[in-house]
Amino acid sequence: MDHNHWLLLLIVVLFVLLVARVGKWLYRRRQAARRKIGGKKEERGAGTYDAIIVGAGPAGATSAYFLGCKGRKVLVVDKKKFPRPKPCGDAWCQPALGILEEMGVLSKMEADGVARRVTRGGFVSPSGIHCINTDGATYGSVTGCKTYAIKRRLADEYLVRAAAALVEVREGTTCFGASFGRGAWTVDLGSRTETSAVLIVCDGATSYLARSLGVLVEDDQPDSVCSHAYARAGSHAWRDADGVMLFNRALLPGYSALFRHADDDVYLGTYVLPGGAATSRSIAPFEADALRRHPYVVAALPEATLEWSERRVVAPIRTGGARVNLDAAPRCLLVGDAAGHVDPLTGEGIHTAMIAAKIAATCVDEMLVTSDFSRAAVEAYYLRCYDAFGFEFFSSSLAARIIYRCPLILDALAAVGASRGQTFLDFFGELMTGCRPKSDFLTAAPLLALRVALGVLYQVYVQKIRRTPPLQPVDIGQASVDKQAAAKNKRDKKDA
Ligand SMILES: Cc1cc2nc3c(=O)[nH]c(=O)nc-3n(C[C@H](O)[C@H](O)[C@H](O)COP(=O)(O)OP(=O)(O)OC[C@H]3O[C@@H](n4cnc5c(N)ncnc54)[C@H](O)[C@@H]3O)c2cc1C
Repeated sequence: MDHNHWLLLLIVVLFVLLVARVGKWLYRRRQAARRKIGGKKEERGAGTYDAIIVGAGPAGATSAYFLGCKGRKVLVVDKKKFPRPKPCGDAWCQPALGILEEMGVLSKMEADGVARRVTRGGFVSPSGIHCINTDGATYGSVTGCKTYAIKRRLADEYLVRAAAALVEVREGTTCFGASFGRGAWTVDLGSRTETSAVLIVCDGATSYLARSLGVLVEDDQPDSVCSHAYARAGSHAWRDADGVMLFNRALLPGYSALFRHADDDVYLGTYVLPGGAATSRSIAPFEADALRRHPYVVAALPEATLEWSERRVVAPIRTGGARVNLDAAPRCLLVGDAAGHVDPLTGEGIHTAMIAAKIAATCVDEMLVTSDFSRAAVEAYYLRCYDAFGFEFFSSSLAARIIYRCPLILDALAAVGASRGQTFLDFFGELMTGCRPKSDFLTAAPLLALRVALGVLYQVYVQKIRRTPPLQPVDIGQASVDKQAAAKNKRDKKDA
């Protein structure tokens, strides 16, 4: 080896040592934050409540319920009176179901007939390969995973009532702002103010409160949108499944979904997720085109009989974890959509909101027990959330980028999945609903991953070399996405 090689080797060794050192330092810092070592003891302040929670969606109601279980004095306010409409796909994934059970509401909803278990499902790939309930087995029959369809208008009320049994809930009460001083938060509720030791912000994706407090960095706007509409029971012809994801090239990495409810209404929604070319304006033309030309949609929702029981609404979603400024407001925790606790690959955020809410309840209780309201104590909450689903969001983002660049993966996945029946669909369901990490696709099922990789090569051969026509039009909604991209380019050029 000459001098240059030795020098290179030395640099590599030093680099590895440096990385190891920094890694160890970061690890220790995180452990310290998690244990809240060094957190300064502080007076609780004269706040009337231990915590005020703004927003009573899944994040707020769940935080309130678990703080109530710990005997804490909590006030929850929501600007709406329940039941209230909430645009959502209404898919309650397994991790949320576990928490609903703990709160004692799932069995009530089942008994009242408002919750429907998904028993058949799957997805359609961009070129039209179906991987749906292929061998007639029930979803969950292999792994036990479950997903329920429960309309949010109904489910959220059950959650609020569960919380109201333990803590004070004020519906129809808007929070107009909050300020911190003398060890307590003062929350402006219009006609009066209330005070608390801790503020928990659960006011949804736009989170005006977190933005006005500076906890959410001003340019950290919701990065996704999704539509919501119900096809009325009796007016549709969808029989072969309860939940189906429809992937189309124009929308990738987003997708559309059909989802059947207990009253047989069918949800149709379209998720525009980060990393693709589509925008919120793509949704209406895409859905109109799909209702005319997508074979699966046309068969399920035939124009001749179709009636909408609710008009389409499009609502924002904040995915992948928000950038939070911990120094902007002390003793303040963001939970759920306000904190971007939504999976960037699926747009699902109910279960992550509820998991984060449980973590928030534990952390706030610890703060009150130890009188440690320090920055480190608040940071510990975000770190625990990161441990619970932060890496998952990273994997989802990566997966979204990959399928956007290479839609053939979805075709290969559908073809391979269809040949494996429910064993695959249960595994796929677990990956997509937060029951197991997405990295399990590579680590727990390497042979499946290998088959999909070979499947991609086969799809390259079929679609690019042999030029076999796809099973469905691959340009659904494409014209409007292209038009908007061109307009954006023009605007960008003009700005430059
Ligand atoms: C169309 C669509 C489809 C979706 N589909 C799914 C799905 O199928 N599965 C899934 O898991 N996730 C889905 N999501 C994401 C999911 O809806 C959210 O992640 C979830 O609602 C987060 O709950 P949250 O409590 O944080 O916020 P929200 O449910 O938005 O609740 C916020 C609450 O705060 C209240 N509020 C707001 N401002 C104030 C104020 N100033 N004062 C008082 N109260 C206030 C609001 O009235 C509201 O009740 C979807 C989202 C959209 C938009």
